[in-house]
Amino acid sequence: MILRAKDIKGHDIEITIEGEGRTFVDTEGRIVLPAFYDMHSHLENAFTLFFTGDNNSSSLEEAVEKWSKVRDSMTIEDIKRRIEKAALIELFYGTTHIRVHADTCSSNLKSVKAALLAKQELADYVDLQIVAFPEQGIDCNREGFVMASKLADLVGGKPEADEDIEEHLRLITGLAERLNKNLDVHIDQHDDKTKHSWKLLEYARTHVALSHLTSLHFYSDEEAMSLMQLIKKKKATVISSPLTAFYLNGGSSYPMPRGVTRIKDLVDHGINVCLGHDDILNAFYPSGRGDMLQVLWMAMNIERTFNPNWISLITINSEKEFGNKNYDYVILDAKNLVEAFSTLLPRWGVIRKGRLVAKNSDYPRVLDQNPYNLMRELMEQI
Ligand SMILES: [Zn+2]
Repeated sequence: MILRAKDIKGHDIEITIEGEGRTFVDTEGRIVLPAFYDMHSHLENAFTLFFTGDNNSSSLEEAVEKWSKVRDSMTIEDIKRRIEKAALIELFYGTTHIRVHADTCSSNLKSVKAALLAKQELADYVDLQIVAFPEQGIDCNREGFVMASKLADLVGGKPEADEDIEEHLRLITGLAERLNKNLDVHIDQHDDKTKHSWKLLEYARTHVALSHLTSLHFYSDEEAMSLMQLIKKKKATVISSPLTAFYLNGGSSYPMPRGVTRIKDLVDHGINVCLGHDDILNAFYPSGRGDMLQVLWMAMNIERTFNPNWISLITINSEKEFGNKNYDYVILDAKNLVEAFSTLLPRWGVIRKGRLVAKNSDYPRVLDQNPYNLMRELMEQI
């Protein structure tokens, strides 16, 4: 099958789908993009809100407490299946590469083992990259964290979860250097002005991704500039999870700041910024559907920037951080990105390794008309 679509600049493009003959399928002017990346996720606890119960304080601490109680009641097989199903839901929305933080505090490293098994089983459909992530600190299982770091693709961290932050930072950076692995660390993820990122960047001898970095929102412009210059000098990446950060951060009284890192400032300073879905319908974020276009839409709303070029946050910027070449495509159910951000319709189709692996077959109708065609007519005619 040969799919006819448009690229982002409006040029005709043809994509050959393997093993489906030489028929032509016209997508009627829909646009095709490189498939998306989710650069920060915890798929093991996706869709667990009804097991954990609500997060009554909307705080990270309550979310961790509630999740950790459920976590250890699950088997490796349970966790693996949950990761695989959640990844397939993300695939439906056009994501073919996902970085998964696997919890090294799970009993018997079940989360890490399950994530590694899921990575193997999903390889034809979604590339998973596994990070050894100490949700409740390295001290909860120090030997397990070291072992998990050897098994995983990246060394993770969460310095604020341990008493001795300095030791935590020294341990993860030293381990990453010994293992010759990149770091992706949950850091400075509260509303106060913690400054652990400076030390992490100073100690690290391998590439660093700073996950969350919500404190940057609260720094003075001078402090923010100083850190951004260091991030740029070290060629580090910043990964923001706007859905989760918007929910967990910002305090509980008015005025209520956004609590999301300075995405726009970072982009404008030429820093590589990527986005993650982070959580889906769980105690950390009680909504969402596994759609990175929705995550980008939230980031654009928070930063009041509806620049179509920001699609790079979930495509080429992430490809650079993920470190592989992306040969997958997503065909949007839209004729341009402005329309796509407005409707957030499910994707028309997703092409992975030359195969059409996801297809939306909804036929929307109001009376006898398609409401989205009505919208397109309004956009195109006056
Ligand atoms: Zn996380």
